[in-house]
Amino acid sequence: MNPNFLNTPIDYLKRVGPQRANLLRTELGVHTYQDLINLFPNRYIDKTKYYKINELQRNSTEVQLVGKVVHMKMVEQKRGKRLVAIFTDGTAEMELVWFKGHKWIKEGVKLNTPYVVYGKINWFNGVFSIPHPEMELLKDHEASLRSAMQPVYPSTEKLTKIGINNKVINQLIQELFKESQGKFYDTLPKYLLEELKLINKAEALFNIHFPRNPEMLAKAQYRLKFEELFYIQFQLIRKNLVRKSKIKGYPFENVGKNFTSFYNEHLPFDLTGAQKRVIKEIRKDLGSNAQMNRLLQGDVGSGKTIVALLTALLALDNGFQACIMAPTEILATQHYNGILELVKPLNLNVKLLTGSTKTSDRKIIHEELQNGDLSILIGTHAVLEDKVKFQNLGLAIIDEQHRFGVAQRAKLWRKNEIPPHVLVMTATPIPRTLAMSLYGDLDISVIDELPPGRKPIKTVHRYDGNRLKVFQFIRDEIEKGRQVYVVYPLIQESESMDYKDLMDGYESIARDFPAPKYQISIVHGQMKPADKDYEMDRFLRGETQIMVATTVIEVGVNVPNASVMIIESAERFGLSQLHQLRGRVGRGAEQSFCILMTGHKLSDDSKTRLETMTRTNDGFEIAEVDLKLRGPGNIMGTQQSGVLNLKIADIVKDNDILKVARYYAMRLLKDDPTLQKPENKIVKYTFEKLQLHKNIWNYIS
Ligand code: ADP
Ligand code: MG
Repeated sequence: MNPNFLNTPIDYLKRVGPQRANLLRTELGVHTYQDLINLFPNRYIDKTKYYKINELQRNSTEVQLVGKVVHMKMVEQKRGKRLVAIFTDGTAEMELVWFKGHKWIKEGVKLNTPYVVYGKINWFNGVFSIPHPEMELLKDHEASLRSAMQPVYPSTEKLTKIGINNKVINQLIQELFKESQGKFYDTLPKYLLEELKLINKAEALFNIHFPRNPEMLAKAQYRLKFEELFYIQFQLIRKNLVRKSKIKGYPFENVGKNFTSFYNEHLPFDLTGAQKRVIKEIRKDLGSNAQMNRLLQGDVGSGKTIVALLTALLALDNGFQACIMAPTEILATQHYNGILELVKPLNLNVKLLTGSTKTSDRKIIHEELQNGDLSILIGTHAVLEDKVKFQNLGLAIIDEQHRFGVAQRAKLWRKNEIPPHVLVMTATPIPRTLAMSLYGDLDISVIDELPPGRKPIKTVHRYDGNRLKVFQFIRDEIEKGRQVYVVYPLIQESESMDYKDLMDGYESIARDFPAPKYQISIVHGQMKPADKDYEMDRFLRGETQIMVATTVIEVGVNVPNASVMIIESAERFGLSQLHQLRGRVGRGAEQSFCILMTGHKLSDDSKTRLETMTRTNDGFEIAEVDLKLRGPGNIMGTQQSGVLNLKIADIVKDNDILKVARYYAMRLLKDDPTLQKPENKIVKYTFEKLQLHKNIWNYIS
């Protein structure tokens, strides 16, 4: 086979005309033969199975039915007409619907004649319908071969409308196999195939599209998933190695007076074992000649701030400046105040830069940064502005990583000729497997231990009907001198309704907790920042006992005296959000509580979320459940990283394959880092090709 065969533009394939070629490109990203062969089925359906109309479920997807069209009619609608066929199989009636190609359908479809109909079902107002179904006369259908594993390819509405349905894609792939005679080069080295007992590429491709039997399909899937994950891990690990060998970092060789005196004399508490371990890991990075790029994961309240500060002090001890970035003004200010307090005895110049910093102050900050007077800059996105120039930024710390994009991370890098060391901190635990794919190019540290003396937060689920009891509980806690959060959901789509819920809630609480005995703060997104800060501040200082808020308080707010978190309509929150919110309490020495309020109607997923929250306080465990419930697509950070652009592997389900792939990628890079060995030529070649092939690799920054 001509080695360039797979690069042939899709236009050249039999049955593909200009219109089809264009749609294949725009709708499915299929530009070449290679892309088409890599268009893997989403799943396989059993086309030996027939459904009955009366057994269809609202959540059924593609179905195959046998029946007759008894009647056809045109229905006028706002935008154009649709052709509706009433279809029955004796058990019930349903509709077949066409928005286009009416003439052809009306002439082509025979009434009262048995057909096999196949398509995706819709349900509307009690009626099932299939838009643009595939139809075949029963007698033709019976004469053709059917397999229990018919591939179902990704498709789009646009494609089906102009007739590129599943059957057509299947035919195109058949054409491709005919032209190539099924000869496809392998993309993994022979020794790996043998060691891992993988089938070769040609066999895998054939069986993924035309499975001979379930066993061969499974082998084909395993081989192709392995390959996909192998090359991703290969890329990530290689990038990390290259960075370490090529990108010089400033070696922080000294442990000087700032670090030592703070560590020995001014630490406000003993560090936990986990904190000590993480600091050791960081010091090792900083002491080497490579640039540090480390992700620090630690549950809310695990004490990441002190780690950040100690790291910053190391930078100062080596003659560098440090910068700490947080996603919101509230958080940045909180870091600023906290750190200022901690380093008081050290006499350091620490400043805060946010969107609302006054121009005159800003000017001073800019100057002091450039002449080196300013040691630690704390701020929001404002520190990324081009005007902000450091004399010698040695370390950048980013808190709550997921709120910043990769691009912003890169912007910090470019602040110096030699990139500063980077420490990103997140309180949203990322399951280990996902972290490997999301941040495979970063080194990861984990604080998996809470400071001593913390009492685990008691979490309960209560129905709205129990509100009076819950209110009494709040009263008792306030009596003991505690403070209480009451949080309402705020979800974009129904913002005005949510806003009303919040205000109604506020009024009802104000009735049950009347002034002057009780003081209530309220904070929500529609308030001016200054008003928000004012209300926050009152709560922080203990002037108000109750804080009614939306999720704006989700991240980072630290009021140790608050011991009760009430979450209204808890069923509407995602798990990670519930966990983040709960993390607002349990910060002091007192027993804290989280009360999840819901109505009686709960979906299965909601029940799982509530059950998980009441069962455990462990952020990693919660993250695993979350990942299973929602899939990786909804986990923070995955969209921007594009880890979902995988063609066949599934980050969650193929966890085990991922681990194997990572192991072998690492072994190969250790053994032959520049791919010089003849047996690895194939890896070198494939990898170079993949890198050119941007639509697979665009997520790797
Ligand atoms: P997070 O990891 O959520 O950023 P913080 O750094 O804000 O956590 O720490 C939470 C609270 O725990 C702070 O009040 C901090 O002073 C305290 N803390 C941190 N580490 C320790 C420790 N080793 N012993 C006692 N308290 C600690
Ligand atoms: Mg924090």
